[in-house]
Amino acid sequence: MTDERFPSLTLLEHPLIEHKLGLIRDRTTRPALFRQLLREVALLMGYALTRDLALETRQVETPMAPTRVRCLVGPVTLVSILRAGLGMAEALRELLPGAQEGHIGLYRDQESHEPREYYVKLPDEPGRVLLVDPMLATGGSAVHAVRVLLARGVAAEEIRFLCLIAAPEGVERFAEAFPGIPILAAALDSHLDERAYIVPGLGDAGDRQFGTEQPDPPA
Ligand code: URA
Repeated sequence: MTDERFPSLTLLEHPLIEHKLGLIRDRTTRPALFRQLLREVALLMGYALTRDLALETRQVETPMAPTRVRCLVGPVTLVSILRAGLGMAEALRELLPGAQEGHIGLYRDQESHEPREYYVKLPDEPGRVLLVDPMLATGGSAVHAVRVLLARGVAAEEIRFLCLIAAPEGVERFAEAFPGIPILAAALDSHLDERAYIVPGLGDAGDRQFGTEQPDPPA
């Protein structure tokens, strides 16, 4: 599905994705199940994310006869925005075991909510880049990560951005900066709160995956 406000955004609608996303959002879902569900949703989304990968024709012999088959060609790189992107990248690695991997480490400045870079490691020839971060909130991290990729010589046409949940504010910022880069998401939520968390969202995607969330303050 597309949203007329955001031509570069595709919302991947599927009963399995919606069901699993509902469980992921549930605050009582513990980290082990959260990671498993995130992995399963990323696998389902990976089908659409990879639908325009390049193929070449090769000759093979089946046990019965020679035949022509179509095989993936050219490098593909999975780039996780650390740390929340790791869980989705793990699923995509199963789909693309030959893919290279890159990591862009960013944390959010608590005051400005803007990204601060602490780590970048990318392969020399990335080819098609599948950039992954479950939450497109303000768009600051995704925009920063794409700038890092462009500065390393990756063409904008080679970049796809995959997230689980997007906020309108983040999609707007990303699409304004990079109108030609497709965004794939499972849901477009309502808005950001004053701390720049997505509402209703799922909370902090890193904390929920890795079990580092803070307990609720006493009532
Ligand atoms: N990052 C998260 O993990 N969750 C949000 O809601 C926003 C940014």
